[in-house]
Amino acid sequence: MADTTATTLFRYCPKCGANLETRVLKEGEPERLICGICGFVFYQDPKVAACAVCTIEGGIVLLRRGIQPQFGKWVFPGGFVDRGESVAQAAVRETFEEVGLRVSVTGILDVYSYPGNDVAVVVYAADVIGGRLQIGDEAEDVRAFPPEQLPWDDLAFESTAAALRDYLRRFFPRVRVPR
Ligand SMILES: [Zn+2]
Repeated sequence: MADTTATTLFRYCPKCGANLETRVLKEGEPERLICGICGFVFYQDPKVAACAVCTIEGGIVLLRRGIQPQFGKWVFPGGFVDRGESVAQAAVRETFEEVGLRVSVTGILDVYSYPGNDVAVVVYAADVIGGRLQIGDEAEDVRAFPPEQLPWDDLAFESTAAALRDYLRRFFPRVRVPR
């Protein structure tokens, strides 16, 4: 089932400012927000986040989040894709902004999405091609963890753990993957 809670978040039409109404437009689809005056349909689309997993001297690069949600938890670099930006380019840009590394994506790990969650997370494997590991303004700390010593109990999101498990299986098949 699609999550319809987003239909309660917005009250006014972004085009004309009239009140939005909740209505089923097409049978079998979630309720939509519709402007009763101009007819504008305010589709509540998912957000797309782009991330990169890379290594430095054999260690997997993670940052400790300095912002909400999941303040203080560990995650690989990534963030929301800007409209008109390629998803892979967003992963490259976010990695430089958040941990100071220039990367080149080598392939996609997977797309991680969950029912009721409005973010679809695209995770790439990437090679470091320049830059220097440093703490960006949205991070408290950055570190390259040996693959055997990932902070499994302090990861930020469900997608973080799922992607790291996939990364280990693919690139470090000898490392034991928890759960
Ligand atoms: Zn309107």
